[in-house]
Amino acid sequence: MRVGPRLSGVLAFAVLLAVVVATAWGQQPHGHRPATAPAGEFSAERALRTVEAIASRPHPSGTPEHDRVRDLLADDLRKLGLDTEIHSGVGRYPAALERDVVGMAQVGNIVARWPGSAPTGTVYLAAHYDSVPSGPGANDDGVGVATILEAVRALRASGATPRNDLVVLLTDAEELGLLGAEAFADAGHADPRGGVVVNHEARGAGGPPLLWRITHPDGDLIRTVAGIPHPDTDSLSTTLAGAQTGSNTDFAALDPTGLRVLDWAYAGRNAYYHNPFDDPAHVSLATVQQLGDNTVAQSRAFGDRDLANRADDDRAYFSLPFGTLIVLPLWLIAVLAVAALIAAGWVVRALRRDGEASVRRVLGAAATALLALPVAMGATYGLWAAVVAIRPEYRPLFVDPYRPESYYAAVLVLCVAVLAAWYTLARKLFGPSAAAVGMLCCVTVLGAGFTAVAPAAAQALVVPGFFAAAGVALTFSIPAPWRLPVLTVFLTPAALFLGATVWSGLQTGITGAPFLVAPSVVLLGGLLWFPLTHAWPKRRAVLIPAAALVLAVALAAAGLAVDRFDDRHPLMSQLAYALDADRQEAQWISRQPPDHWTRRFVESGAPRGQFADLWSETVAAGPAPARPLSAPVAEVLSDTTDSGHRTIRLRLRSTRGATALALRYDTPIHTLRVAGRDLTPAPKQGFQFTAPPAEGIDVELTAPAGPLALRVVDYSWLPDSGLADPPPDIFYRQDSAAAVFATVKGV
Ligand SMILES: [Zn+2]
Repeated sequence: MRVGPRLSGVLAFAVLLAVVVATAWGQQPHGHRPATAPAGEFSAERALRTVEAIASRPHPSGTPEHDRVRDLLADDLRKLGLDTEIHSGVGRYPAALERDVVGMAQVGNIVARWPGSAPTGTVYLAAHYDSVPSGPGANDDGVGVATILEAVRALRASGATPRNDLVVLLTDAEELGLLGAEAFADAGHADPRGGVVVNHEARGAGGPPLLWRITHPDGDLIRTVAGIPHPDTDSLSTTLAGAQTGSNTDFAALDPTGLRVLDWAYAGRNAYYHNPFDDPAHVSLATVQQLGDNTVAQSRAFGDRDLANRADDDRAYFSLPFGTLIVLPLWLIAVLAVAALIAAGWVVRALRRDGEASVRRVLGAAATALLALPVAMGATYGLWAAVVAIRPEYRPLFVDPYRPESYYAAVLVLCVAVLAAWYTLARKLFGPSAAAVGMLCCVTVLGAGFTAVAPAAAQALVVPGFFAAAGVALTFSIPAPWRLPVLTVFLTPAALFLGATVWSGLQTGITGAPFLVAPSVVLLGGLLWFPLTHAWPKRRAVLIPAAALVLAVALAAAGLAVDRFDDRHPLMSQLAYALDADRQEAQWISRQPPDHWTRRFVESGAPRGQFADLWSETVAAGPAPARPLSAPVAEVLSDTTDSGHRTIRLRLRSTRGATALALRYDTPIHTLRVAGRDLTPAPKQGFQFTAPPAEGIDVELTAPAGPLALRVVDYSWLPDSGLADPPPDIFYRQDSAAAVFATVKGV
């Protein structure tokens, strides 16, 4: 297997590496249109004005700032000429997300309609307009909201006359558990003719907007997405996201309506997620421009096509540089997987024929290549675990620290170190040709295995594996001078896939790196090693992985030195103040181990008695002074017992203007009705209702006859209470509250 002399091998490897870097760079957004851009175009600068108007301060549900934002947005939509309404209702956690305490809220969704000329259904442009209490929500989800407004403005200014109805759906109370979207779905507001929802989300403050989740079957939707300017998606990510239920957006609440949903989100610089610095100054205009150009293009494309839900099936897809999305039928993935196996087998036979390597040596190398996979995954996991052990303040992070770039680089270099170590060892044990072809066999066999389980996800291995196997096979039958150039061309897909995966994969969070980034570097990076077959040093080759390992450690150390918490990069704390109004006793409670701020309130250990009942998952507690906070009241409207069933009607009310009310119990309840919403089967421990009306909320429950212990609780945002104002290098997590509870008397 002669693939060129030493120097040209290194050059070919350098070219492939350049393709990896260029692909990763090209995937990041660059540039934006200024506010002076023609009116018919989307301008990120114009969208930013809306972000500034709605997201300079936190605006969670149940606060006056929230109502100001709602009214301002409804006004803006009316000024754009859309028929705008506020749909009031009561939302609850989608029933599919089972919880012991069900979240509910009085919500006001903003629904603005642009009637189509001959509608076949509705295109919904969706985003949530509420924020968490812990930050102004400029990215999450001010950018989503502002992008929709600017996109609709640009469409109208361009004279577009869509065939389908277009509805701007700005949902409420997403941060409390998708409550606005759930209320929209429950009220039957979804177009019965069908439609498509383009949802806009953020879990960070930059990076490329990715289509990370989609309703299935997805072939029909994805063919439309292929025509938009930045179709950043791949069927590996959407398959993994579909299987994952922990991270939820309005997608989960809208999916059951039968509408088809595309969930777009960006996740770069994710330290700013739910953070006081998720403000307009931390919005990336380049990200907004990409998101907006996509929204305009999707509005046009879905706005003009027949939305009737056609018989369809899933597709495999992946994006290439310059806004290209390749969409393939699943049978083709199966064909490519088999063809790759045949080509790899043919290469092994040719090696044996030429006396370069035995089948046993190739299989030995393939087995060690497979072993390198868990080693790289473990090393990546271990690296981050070591960093967190050195800096325990990283433990409460939602995702990554503020300046994660050195850590990202450390993860990549560490994976390369594992790959280089494997290669050095495999060359020594099995010979250079067997080592290179062993990796090829490992990739093609894994690709074929995954194809049998999940062909849409397997494309990430099958497509580059097929081209690599075909390229290596070709080198046996073409003239010597052509071998290296041809092989380099056939390895380019592996470089493109690697470039598309690694950096954006890291941006979604270092903790996910062992599962996506490490396998990509070992398997796809392993294919790129081919041109080095004759360029690898014959002596002291072990210095290469050793140097990479040292570099990885140095990069991690640089990360620790560069990334520290300060006033502009505050650390997140969680703390709650809980007052038992019956006994006039109070406790500080935290779901996080004490940090340098909360240490003055709590120490490790669970709280006592009634506090432990109401605050589960607490790991720290401490005594607190009983402040004169007035208790919530539960007025018993009626209490009757009939043939073993007790029916109680209550009205709950906060006497101190708290933003949420809860009713809690420990004994089983048969049925539960809250503010007109039926919660039967009743949740195990109760409900928590945000933004209750001033007059209170009505509750009706039935329980077995006999005694019943009910507690009423109200919650306000801890910093509003002034009980524990943190220093500037600390901010409170969104569930930090000042709560007052009391036993419901007279039941
Ligand atoms: Zn959000």
